Amino acid sequence: MATERNVWRLARRPVGAIAEGDLVYASEAMPEPEAGQFVLQVLYLSLDPTNRIWMSDAEQYMPPVEVGAPMRGLVAGRVVKSRKDGVAEGALYSGIGPWADFMVSDGQGLQPMALPPGVPLSVAFGVFGLVGPTAYFGLLDIGRPKAGETLVVSAAAGGVGQIVGQIGRIKGCRVIGIAGGAEKCRFLVDDLGFDAAIDHRGEDVGARLDALAPAGVDINFEQVGGPILDAVFARMRLFGRMPLCGLIASYNDTMERQGPAAWRHMLMRRLTVQGFIVTDYADRWGEAVAALGGWMAEGRIKTRQDVRPGLDRAVAHLDSLYTGGNFGKLLVEVVPDAARI
Ligand code: NDP
Repeated sequence: MATERNVWRLARRPVGAIAEGDLVYASEAMPEPEAGQFVLQVLYLSLDPTNRIWMSDAEQYMPPVEVGAPMRGLVAGRVVKSRKDGVAEGALYSGIGPWADFMVSDGQGLQPMALPPGVPLSVAFGVFGLVGPTAYFGLLDIGRPKAGETLVVSAAAGGVGQIVGQIGRIKGCRVIGIAGGAEKCRFLVDDLGFDAAIDHRGEDVGARLDALAPAGVDINFEQVGGPILDAVFARMRLFGRMPLCGLIASYNDTMERQGPAAWRHMLMRRLTVQGFIVTDYADRWGEAVAALGGWMAEGRIKTRQDVRPGLDRAVAHLDSLYTGGNFGKLLVEVVPDAARI
């Protein structure tokens, strides 16, 4: 057993984009598990846009990370030492944990993981841990897609977005993805079967929407905010729905943004806009995992992951989410060759 662990701690709250010194990476003595606890070797760390929100003390859906505390994330790992009844050494667990290579836990916030046959840990964790259920519940419960409707999804080539679009296709929607760059747009159409894609870095989103969806948009799965949200908002159809999943364009803001410029369309077109946090659906998690697992096994949902080595580079990896540097669900492989462990 290791006697030391590596851990990222929040040294101060970032102002704007995360700066050098906001988080500090260091080795420290490995805590010993007490009776009722176990040690988990972290194999994968999920990096998620919400990590930046957790670093701030803005109003949010769970307590912010305390200054001085280990940075919080979603982790998957293997039990290497257990002093807790019912937790076997070698078992896989995932859930909330520190940005660290080892953690000591009494099991709170962690769930045992069962890997579906043929599904690697990185895929099971990357898809079922957060982004898959987010796509599933946000689109199906709030978006309520019907065959023949037009669905727009922003941040479409990312972790949540690629699954939203593919579920939309399964439900018979015409799916338009918005992503940054020609390569991500090509991937959406050629590899995932989206009907069309708009490159928000190289094209005028509003003009392209007018050409691709002249009758308007029935569902906007919103993940970005800012000018992209404004462009889609202005093109929503009567009684359109908008699952508000995220607003990543504003997570590094230092000032509160004004509301959408096209707000009046909500009234005139009787739109439904509903924010949601996937944990609202905690008691239905198994339903999403079963449905997504089934579609994946049938080859109807593909997922692209962006797995990066190096816990020591976690902050730089995280930063790529806010600049579009990731391509697919972003994970850190904490242990080299984690897939084999
Ligand atoms: P992604 O894998 O989609 O990565 C983030 C992507 O956002 C980037 O790759 C980039 O894509 C895009 N982006 C970043 N900044 C901007 C910007 N200013 N303008 C346009 N696009 C931008 O991340 P996730 O799939 O993990 O998360 C996507 C969204 O879903 C986030 O808003 C996140 O907070 C939210 N979320 C919400 C949950 C909930 O429970 N409500 C749960 C999980 C995620 P590109 O290169 O295409 O521009």
